[in-house]
Amino acid sequence: MKVLVLNCGSSSLKYQLINMETEAVLAKGVAERIGIAGSFVKHEATGKEKVIIDEAMDNHKAAIKIVLDCLVNKVHGAISSMDEISAVGHRVVHGGEKFAESVIINDEVKATLEECSELAPLHNPPNLMGINACEEILPNVPMVGVFDTAFHQTMPKSSFLYALPYELYEKYKIRRYGFHGTSHKYVAMRAADMLGKSLEDLKLITCHLGNGASIAAINKGKSVDTSMGFTPLEGLAMGTRCGDIDPAITTYLMEKENLTSGDLNNLMNKKSGVLGISGVSSDFRDIEAAVSEGNERANMALEVYYKRVKKYIGAYAAEMGGLDAVIFTAGLGENSVETRQAVCEGLEFLGIKIDSDKNNVRGKETIVTTDDSTTKVLLVPTNEELMIARETKALI
Ligand code: ADP
Repeated sequence: MKVLVLNCGSSSLKYQLINMETEAVLAKGVAERIGIAGSFVKHEATGKEKVIIDEAMDNHKAAIKIVLDCLVNKVHGAISSMDEISAVGHRVVHGGEKFAESVIINDEVKATLEECSELAPLHNPPNLMGINACEEILPNVPMVGVFDTAFHQTMPKSSFLYALPYELYEKYKIRRYGFHGTSHKYVAMRAADMLGKSLEDLKLITCHLGNGASIAAINKGKSVDTSMGFTPLEGLAMGTRCGDIDPAITTYLMEKENLTSGDLNNLMNKKSGVLGISGVSSDFRDIEAAVSEGNERANMALEVYYKRVKKYIGAYAAEMGGLDAVIFTAGLGENSVETRQAVCEGLEFLGIKIDSDKNNVRGKETIVTTDDSTTKVLLVPTNEELMIARETKALI
């Protein structure tokens, strides 16, 4: 059985074709600049040469057609006919309160997704475009929606309610939803395997530290709290996002700098985080390089970043009443030795003892604490595509 996984953004479409018997990736790629001049598809079938196809793509339907052509191409393809695709798994960012699990997509689900678009105006509409396009091109292939928010739907009300008038929750569904759920779930499952324990017996904190970053508290396999909220802006400092700030700063700034709500959104989402503090870059590689050249603001950006992660780890350990393991994943969590080291420094009181030799590793599953560390720290590369493919297979 082969599952096509699609992740549709506003102008891009990432895809992977996965053989579910072996869970091997047969082909993967990305269509970029959809609807913009200069669009192209970068495609690579496993074991074959990478190709770039420069072709105009006015919309997601055109992009999916080219991707499917690539997949069945005699020279650089991975399958001989589209009939080999048994199902399509779509990443959907926001499932609101309606979807606590992945679902088979039908008209009713699509209508509910439209409703959720209000909560994620940048993400859900392109997800839906991908779903509609697939339906037209592959009308008989079942499709599954896998939501970033679903895994966090187990959070108790005490975690997801904001201390705002309760009517606003009822009227507008203003609450914490949490994101990166597919990744948090995947790495938690892998961690349990690596520790040789059942998720039921574990209190875990998963740190997804990429361009966007979030932390989740996972007790007995269920998300009980997470740092991202109503939108993916809350929580940790990120590449360009501010994360937690005093909400009163927003109205103060609007008045002082004469900002519109759009300006403010742009400032908090695109100009803040480690980019905002350092003035150097949103990419941690650039910031770490600047620090080694003595750049003070770059150093401060990292210190703010690390402290925020540490603070959440402490908070979530307290919330769960204990901690068995901390898991690092995504670009920075998987690759930055310094980040794991700095975040875990001073957490000996939680039973964490980092082994600096074991921690000197990138991008592979490993335990980075000493053998006598009572709380383990793990590096687990995330694999959201595989998780989406597994959920798709399970449902169909
Ligand atoms: P996203 O999927 O959210 O775009 P990723 O999970 O790919 O992000 O993470 C990207 C980030 O990971 C980059 O911005 C970079 O800061 C960080 N990163 C990747 N490799 C390294 C590395 N070797 N050292 C430090 N940071 C890294």
